[in-house]
Amino acid sequence: MNRRYRKTVIAGNWKMNKNAADAKSFISELKSSVRGKWCEVVLCVPFTAIPAAVKTAKGSRIDIGAQNCHFAPEGAYTGEISCAMLAEAGVKYVVIGHSERRRDFGESDRTVNLKAHAALDAGLRPIICVGESAEMRETGITLDVIRAQVKSALKDITADRVRRTVIAYEPIWAIGTGDTATAEQADEVNRAIRECLRQLYGARVARSISILYGGSVTPKNAYELFAMPDIDGGLVGGASLDRAAFEEIINAADQ
Ligand code: PEP
Repeated sequence: MNRRYRKTVIAGNWKMNKNAADAKSFISELKSSVRGKWCEVVLCVPFTAIPAAVKTAKGSRIDIGAQNCHFAPEGAYTGEISCAMLAEAGVKYVVIGHSERRRDFGESDRTVNLKAHAALDAGLRPIICVGESAEMRETGITLDVIRAQVKSALKDITADRVRRTVIAYEPIWAIGTGDTATAEQADEVNRAIRECLRQLYGARVARSISILYGGSVTPKNAYELFAMPDIDGGLVGGASLDRAAFEEIINAADQ
């Protein structure tokens, strides 16, 4: 990480776990331990837990995120939630293009781009996920795949708006598997993402954008990962469900 130019972000992704009461007790306890930390702490909770999470986190260093959004501002999209609705509820961040949504819900590079625009329009900070499959890595096309995903996700996003985005490199083979990328593997991809941002927006913008790593981050591997120059924090799934583990990961980022 490079504290001088960009923020360090630790974002927990609870996926479809925990309810409003859980959010309340988890955040109440986390609040005091993150006091005085300089890194950004985000909890991306299920939609139904957002009001309780926002209320409990009020006045603390913790921001609340959502795990998905729709790209339209309103309309006949049964079961969907717009970015303006999330912003109204007090949400600050939204995860876009998580590999589980790409795999199970038909999220494509095009919808990721539309959602990123919608999030920025509503004043939210998108956390845009990119990542390769095990097969892609084995065939040596990882960096090409990632560059294509980043370019497509950021299509027509201007330099002043892109500064509000966060990118999360999440190799699909590392998510929920316990099979973390090595710090060198993750940093190599994050460096390639930053180079891609430099080509698109210039060096100043590129160095200001936080690029996270996600995929089986634990208290054990967090210190090594966050010590790498281009890893600016983590998107944390399983370990964010356990308060002590999540706190330790925040400590690792706060060095
Ligand atoms: C995730 O869901 O984004 C994730 C990285 O999960 P885990 O940390 O459990 O691998």
